[in-house]
Amino acid sequence: MLIDQHNRVVNYLRVSVTERCNFRCQYCMPEKPFSWVPQENLLSYEDMFEFIKVSIDEGITKIRLTGGEPLLRAGLPNFIKMISDYSPTIDLALTTNAFLLEDVAQELKDAGLKRLNISLDSLKPEVAHHIAQKDVLKKVLRGIDKAQEIGLGIKINCVPLEDINDGEIVDLLEHCKNKGYEIRFIEYMENSHANVKSGLNSAQIQKIISQKYNITKGERVGASPSQDYFLDDGYKFGIIEPHLDDFCSDCNRLRITAEGYLIPCLYFEDALSIADAIKAKDIKKAAEILKLVLKNKPEKNKWNSEEGSDRAFYETGG
Ligand code: SAM
Ligand code: SF4
Repeated sequence: MLIDQHNRVVNYLRVSVTERCNFRCQYCMPEKPFSWVPQENLLSYEDMFEFIKVSIDEGITKIRLTGGEPLLRAGLPNFIKMISDYSPTIDLALTTNAFLLEDVAQELKDAGLKRLNISLDSLKPEVAHHIAQKDVLKKVLRGIDKAQEIGLGIKINCVPLEDINDGEIVDLLEHCKNKGYEIRFIEYMENSHANVKSGLNSAQIQKIISQKYNITKGERVGASPSQDYFLDDGYKFGIIEPHLDDFCSDCNRLRITAEGYLIPCLYFEDALSIADAIKAKDIKKAAEILKLVLKNKPEKNKWNSEEGSDRAFYETGG
């Protein structure tokens, strides 16, 4: 079992398979980064899998594949199959913008994928276009429909932004409710790569929904980053509230970038690379680095401070 210095059990690994993306969301990657990580610096799927085996053996029970846009990297279904064959009980999920999902959803499911988190920030084509800087909505909605049709679990992620999509919070909630999946509103996390004025915090999101619905706060479930809320008819939605003081108290997550940097906290710059150890097939060393990163996991993020973060979400996978 992996336990950090603050007595938190860490059992969740988020694996970014690429930093590249086919969108340029204003809150994540507004302009093309100066240079992408060269292809040869990326860990191969085989190398990533070696590290994933170490992680599972050390106590990781939940893996989320993310990016950048993970569906851009060729060979993803086979990578999913490698992981699910190694550990059929692993809780394996994927976060995607769904633009390429329609054609590949069945293959992902057949490979062993159970669940998807999908970003959907607007139901208006022009607003979705403005946020992603590309005409995306039709294809995204088709991808989501396809995933639902074939029985993949779906949760929607939405980042409410001031004067951009904040007028659609109730519409998005009702859309997801009618479709039968959960929506999670994510508080915008300030970072130096973004290009938005500001996002809505949890209290503001709740206030908007409360103007139409009575909402009740649920119990905090396990180490989920999302706080549950309920409408009177039992519909559950979530708000991810990283600015709240107790958000990090049960954080169970580590992240690895496509280059092999192991990151203890989404906010902070510090990271250690497992790439050399894995490429040298030095499994013992990779396990040592994993434990060192665990040891350095900070107690709290600083999203409440003025500083913001230099970490790019498209690198860490969110
Ligand atoms: N491309 C995929 C997608 O958009 O779902 C996966 C990667 S994306 C970095 C993962 C999640 O991070 C998305 O749900 C996105 O909304 C969220 N995200 C990105 N930048 C963010 C920010 N500044 N604040 C809050 N959430 C952010
Ligand atoms: Fe790409 Fe996802 Fe970042 Fe949008 S949030 S730019 S889709 S990585």
